[in-house]
Amino acid sequence: MRCKDIERLIIDSTWKDLNREELLFIKEHTQQCPQCTLFQSEYKNLRLSLKNNPAPALPEDLDRSTCEMCRKALNLQKKAAPTIPLVIWGVLAILIVISVIMFVPVFKDLRLNEPLSSQALFVLTFLIQNTVMLFFTPILIKNCRAKKQGLNIFS
Ligand SMILES: [Zn+2]
Repeated sequence: MRCKDIERLIIDSTWKDLNREELLFIKEHTQQCPQCTLFQSEYKNLRLSLKNNPAPALPEDLDRSTCEMCRKALNLQKKAAPTIPLVIWGVLAILIVISVIMFVPVFKDLRLNEPLSSQALFVLTFLIQNTVMLFFTPILIKNCRAKKQGLNIFS
């Protein structure tokens, strides 16, 4: 057996039981090879010193700053939760009032078998436009907030 094979066997002996033949190979080889004898003793010493040393502790400031970063990230997520600002509710209320005021007189004149008057057409366009705007407002608000925080929800 070559020295490389013996080194491999020495390393393997730390995590598995070698058979009698393999143990004999190591014994016979190390008796006549000073290099492998040195390797065996150094490897043994290295393993012992690793076993005796406790696991390295994380530096305190690194530990603290990591906890802080995690906490900030969690707070950022909480703040990003969608809430509708009061301004939007106010605008929504005004739009509903305007729509009702405009639509009630037109609604009285609506007949299924008659063509729409230009006033009815205008009111319907106004209502559809507002509905579409209200539908997209939460998406616009969320996107705007994400941009302010340096995040992009579309990425
Ligand atoms: Zn050797």
